[in-house]
Amino acid sequence: MEQKDILKEIISHCKEYGFVFPSSEIYDGLAATYDYGQLGAELKNNIKTYWWKSMTQLNSNIVGIDTAIFMHPTTWKASGHVDAFNDPLIDNKDSKKRYRADVLLEEYLEKQSHKIQKEVEKGIKRFGESFDKEQFLATNPNVIRIKEKQAQIEARMKTALNENNLEDLRQLIIDLEIVCPISGSKNWTEVRQFNLMFSTSLGSVAGESSTIYLRPETAQGIFVNFLNVQKSGRMKIPFGIAQIGKAFRNEIVARQFIFRMREFEQMEMQFFVKPGEELTWYEHWKEVRKKWHLNLGLGESNYRFHDHIKLAHYANAACDIEFNFPMGFKELEGIHSRTDFDLKQHELHASKKLQYFDPITNESFVPYVIETSVGLDRLFLSVLSASYTEEILEDGSERIVLKIPAALAPYKIAILPLIKKDGLPDKAQEIMRMLQLDYTIQYDEKDSIGKRYRRQDAIGTPFAITVDHETLESNTVTIRNRDTMIQDRISIESLPTFLNSHCSWSTLLGALA
Ligand code: ATP
Repeated sequence: MEQKDILKEIISHCKEYGFVFPSSEIYDGLAATYDYGQLGAELKNNIKTYWWKSMTQLNSNIVGIDTAIFMHPTTWKASGHVDAFNDPLIDNKDSKKRYRADVLLEEYLEKQSHKIQKEVEKGIKRFGESFDKEQFLATNPNVIRIKEKQAQIEARMKTALNENNLEDLRQLIIDLEIVCPISGSKNWTEVRQFNLMFSTSLGSVAGESSTIYLRPETAQGIFVNFLNVQKSGRMKIPFGIAQIGKAFRNEIVARQFIFRMREFEQMEMQFFVKPGEELTWYEHWKEVRKKWHLNLGLGESNYRFHDHIKLAHYANAACDIEFNFPMGFKELEGIHSRTDFDLKQHELHASKKLQYFDPITNESFVPYVIETSVGLDRLFLSVLSASYTEEILEDGSERIVLKIPAALAPYKIAILPLIKKDGLPDKAQEIMRMLQLDYTIQYDEKDSIGKRYRRQDAIGTPFAITVDHETLESNTVTIRNRDTMIQDRISIESLPTFLNSHCSWSTLLGALA
């Protein structure tokens, strides 16, 4: 199936089964805004729990907080968001469509990478077994030419972005003959900067002084509470503060389902370290976060690291963990070495000291910060897109199955009495009551057993327990595995142990501890 189609399939699957709905749909929806349905909310909560537990429960030096969305407006002056949280936008005069100039260029660069990949495929065909990829990439004239071109574009783009040279950014788009995907024309406007923060007013008085912002990142709530947490929690450096919460950005181009929304959720952790040690910790957190993602089992080849072309105004090192979404590799998480920029800025604007007193050296200093910042909605999409599978079965029928990691699945177990009589529903409900203190369970007695299995496959329930006549005689049930479809008969007594070793939090967290 075409990559683009997979996203469409996932969107309609999400709607059909109650994972994600367009927001305010009865009014025809609101652009780039979505609501999580009954299964989506469960999956989202489970992803949050995986992140929260791995940050705070598995690290005695990381604590979690929950700060307000509204913050004193000076926060955003200090952080640089009022002056510099801009995206360069460009319009196509024919289609009237608006684009991010940097994204148009990044997509162009990505196309060049596809060209290199095509050359590699040709090479594999030509040289067969003796094909040496590294040698080919280093010596093939076409590849060398494309790579040189890429490097030149990247360098020019970096300079233009760093120097805020919007004219050259536009010129680069024109020189590369980039066309609007809708109109196909090169009729571009000037590039302009556009601030991404949403503003509103506090109380009933309108005017400059009452303008406040919806936070564009959760991080600043952590920075302004740095001393509160450090002192009340008696935290010793190095230590981290984690937070999950909503963030808002007036994105120029908000599309691709829940990948880019104007209201979304972030899971951020700021790790405070001694100045000079930040790059060691930066490497440490890159590794830790990579392991965390791989532990989900969505496939190693679905992830890659991408160093930033343009460093944000606060960073001295930064990279993205990219995921192979249905629309290609795109940012899932950012890892940034934010220096002491934020704390120093808040010291300046609030005229308060935000320093750590080191009892060993008797010195005070402003800590440096490593940030890990992952989008919850993007993680949700990564889990869904990697687990969405269409299979043709031996009997020729088709099934759609969501191979969601068991601990994250909305329902862990389906309990299905084979028929609706002979005491089977009562027995099934008795088993449900036994397990529902620990697991989310769906009870289903409607339709044939085959249909019920398909329904559970489609929502990613890892195990289906079927209660049949033998259950009443021997106190055993069949347990069906979603992925292999193999059914085993096991005793009711052993169900808690079985489930504990397959879908409890410790099964998922165990590899990280
Ligand atoms: P992008 O380059 O895609 O706009 P960014 O570099 O601005 O993202 P960060 O500021 O590093 O993003 O934010 C951290 C994380 O928050 C991102 O890695 C992403 O997962 C998530 N995120 C950012 N913007 C959005 C959005 N509009 N919708 C959903 N998630 C988002």
